[in-house]
Amino acid sequence: MSEQRTELDKLGEFGLIEHLTKNFKNTQSSTRLGIGDDAAVLSISKSQSQLISTDMLIEGVHFNLMYMPLKHLGYKAVAVNVSDICAMNGVAEQITVSIAVSNRFPVEALEELYDGIHTACKVYNVDLIGGDTSSSLSGLTISITAIGRVKKDAITYRSGAKEHDLLVVTGDLGAAYVGLQVLEREKEVYNTNPNIQPDLDGHDYIIERQLKPEARVDVVKFLKELDVKPTAMIDISDGLASEVLHICKSSKVGCHIYDEKLPIDGQTSMTAIEFNLDPNTCAMNGGEDYELLFTISQSDYEKIKGNPHMTVIGHITDEKAGRYYVDKNGAAIELTAQGWNHFED
Ligand code: ADP
Ligand code: MG
Repeated sequence: MSEQRTELDKLGEFGLIEHLTKNFKNTQSSTRLGIGDDAAVLSISKSQSQLISTDMLIEGVHFNLMYMPLKHLGYKAVAVNVSDICAMNGVAEQITVSIAVSNRFPVEALEELYDGIHTACKVYNVDLIGGDTSSSLSGLTISITAIGRVKKDAITYRSGAKEHDLLVVTGDLGAAYVGLQVLEREKEVYNTNPNIQPDLDGHDYIIERQLKPEARVDVVKFLKELDVKPTAMIDISDGLASEVLHICKSSKVGCHIYDEKLPIDGQTSMTAIEFNLDPNTCAMNGGEDYELLFTISQSDYEKIKGNPHMTVIGHITDEKAGRYYVDKNGAAIELTAQGWNHFED
């Protein structure tokens, strides 16, 4: 190590990954794609590829056990990994689970965690095939790797978006973030006075979106049935703005997103306003929705038109035209990612 000291927040999460891995070159012919997409792509036969993706959840960073039941945590940890396989248009088949746990947790707590993992394995039809277990000095860490499969001609990378393609998002956005605000508020109330019961009435949908997100395996199926192959796809873990920028950067294109097209549930909007938050900002930057964002060629528009699971929110432009968020008055604001940056307080 040199004398020099560079703070992590100078690079940010993506800058750090790029910096640390820039000197690695793939040498195996089976490695079709390594770092840089939702999952790595390995060639396993003439027509099929294997997909591999890893995600880690850390206590105090990604979850708070004061309001996150361990059963839900187990379920969520599987769902977010399956979501990355969906983002490649693939089907998850196996997972490995690694945990580091402090002696603060009794066996019963870990049974709860594994109950949630078990439920998710049944719902997503994946086999638990291994993992690792370690003690930790403090807190709980859970890291899951999902392994999936996709036909080679069906793989959707982040890099395939073309000028004039339509930008499509599934489900609705911002709910998980606003749900988190409700949970955080009730945590504060509880910390001040543990005798007050949490007031979660009327927030059931958005709280469920935070505590029990689902991977959109149904969308992968719908796309196949509709005979639509997205030109690019990514899942929304860090917020729409951040994910659109990933697609634009990988595909070397620009985009226009229209704020009035953003799909936002009524409960999300009402609660956001209660918290003095702009619902559109929550949809753009909230994160943890685990919906899919994809681009399709205009010729496929008729196939998805009117589909209740999919909303066209904008289109792809030439790279030189820039990346913009257009508001109701037609004002264009340059897109910046304000998703989670784990190295900032
Ligand atoms: P996602 O949000 O889809 O989970 P990430 O933003 O976590 O993806 O990761 C982006 C890419 O960087 C992925 O290809 C991932 O495998 C890779 N990556 C992340 N962290 C590391 C690391 N520490 N070393 C090598 N590759 C990494
Ligand atoms: Mg992803």
